[in-house]
Amino acid sequence: MNNYAIARIFTRIADLMELQGDDPFKLRAYRNAAQTMQELTESLETLAERGELQTVPGIGQAIAGKTQEILSTGTCKLYEELKKKVPESLTDMLGLPGFGPKKIHTVWKELGVRSLDELESAAREQRLRNVKGLGARTEANLVEAIEAFRRRRERAPIGLALPYAEGLARLFLSECGFQRLEVAGSVRRMADMTDEMALAGIAADPEAALAAVAAHPEVREVLARSGDMVCVCTQNNFAVRVSAATGNSFGRLLLRETGSDAHLAALREQAEVKGVDLGALPGDDEEQCYAALGLPCIPPELREGRGEVDAAREGRLPRLIEAGDMRGILHAHSTWSDGSASIADMAAAARAQGYGFHGNTDHSKALGIAHGLDEDRLRAQMAEIDALNATFTDGFRVLKGIECDILADGALDLPVELLAELDFVIGSVHSHQKLDQEAMTRRIVAALESGAVDLLAHPTGRLLGARDAYSVDIERVFDAAVEYAVALEINAAPDRLDLHDLHARQAKERGIPISINTDAHRPADLASLRYGIAQARRAWLEADDVINTWPLERLLEWVRSRRRRG
Ligand SMILES: [Zn+2]
Ligand SMILES: [Zn+2]
Repeated sequence: MNNYAIARIFTRIADLMELQGDDPFKLRAYRNAAQTMQELTESLETLAERGELQTVPGIGQAIAGKTQEILSTGTCKLYEELKKKVPESLTDMLGLPGFGPKKIHTVWKELGVRSLDELESAAREQRLRNVKGLGARTEANLVEAIEAFRRRRERAPIGLALPYAEGLARLFLSECGFQRLEVAGSVRRMADMTDEMALAGIAADPEAALAAVAAHPEVREVLARSGDMVCVCTQNNFAVRVSAATGNSFGRLLLRETGSDAHLAALREQAEVKGVDLGALPGDDEEQCYAALGLPCIPPELREGRGEVDAAREGRLPRLIEAGDMRGILHAHSTWSDGSASIADMAAAARAQGYGFHGNTDHSKALGIAHGLDEDRLRAQMAEIDALNATFTDGFRVLKGIECDILADGALDLPVELLAELDFVIGSVHSHQKLDQEAMTRRIVAALESGAVDLLAHPTGRLLGARDAYSVDIERVFDAAVEYAVALEINAAPDRLDLHDLHARQAKERGIPISINTDAHRPADLASLRYGIAQARRAWLEADDVINTWPLERLLEWVRSRRRRG
């Protein structure tokens, strides 16, 4: 059994528990485990054989035991028992907009509705209007919603799409007769959201490999098939294009499948100038394809038709930032607020990854829900950090910082004199996010104007796929960042990616320093850095544009000089 199939059983267990009315807290462990399993690079089977299931974070004794059971029997007792109590077909309805687990539970108990089809019939036959909490309006909306729901494919944020696509590539590589299979498309370009994933591969018999994909158990439905590609819907409801070629034309295939359309259009113009045929470029690798067009190889993150082909032709492609350029972290939480590890453990994790400094920035008191720090606790924390720093003999340093709330009127949550004693101050908006554009813009500008904020975190407040950016005039935020010498963040948390690529590129053009941070709340979050680096690369950023790449002394001098201006 592959990792996805096992993960689906745990997701199912959580779904059934939810439909049964269990405490969401109780089922979160199953959802987290399913997510982790999908992102593993090793197969659960191999880990189980080596007795190492429990070394995976998020897989404790109970889940490891159930995983063993699933590996040897194809299912587990808990899952089978749940299925006896709750009809599994109810889970079809989960995800239907406006129709949550409680309503599903109600129509099941009161009308005996047990599946999406039965729900549709009940709505069409106007049987829902007599159920408490539903009504005639619900019936009409529901028929439409169900139709749309059936056609739906998941859109995935990059934090989900990349590990999924990589896992699928490994799976099809080992089971469908490919010699090589790579992630292409918008996921390879690291676009923040993806409608359709793409894989491109080499096979001795491309046609047979694509037929094997179409028949693979991870594939629910074949959506389209033509020439050298097949487009499928996977069991997880993602649309995935898979293309195959023989080895000597792989470069051309990967280039085409990586796109974007705008980039390929720009290449087509260049091909005309050069008098070559884009569809017949030579080469097993992309470098040869670009060389035939008289161009250096253009990194995938730049291939958006935003001037990269001109820049390549004129020899002015940026030297994009890489993860290895990062010297330290400036935004991370600990158990002092809503993090799950101590400052010492977070710092140790950062140090183990080769960073030279770790900026600890817990929340301030306005964020009561996150147990934010008041003046006294912040002072106590500063003393703890001083003591911790005395233990490092290799120059590693924990910076004393704070993620200070910007209150609704633009005032800061802690006294400016206290903030001035810290090594590093982040300003953030976490409340009153529905202010109108003028009020929100003034609020943020006022915070920058105070001079006390070194970095504005997650400047637009968006949550990918869940919440839009707040209404803010970003141009005026850029103006203020220039005027008061404040850095802006690319928050690398996979659900944020804020600033996004276009804004970060504009900020760079305005000369605004950028900081890339994982906003880690536990050591494992440090791994999200790759998503922040990718957005920075899509924004054409070079190492020197990002303050985390500077030597610590330069960084601290920058903080001192910007504060002196104020
Ligand atoms: Zn925050
Ligand atoms: Zn934070």
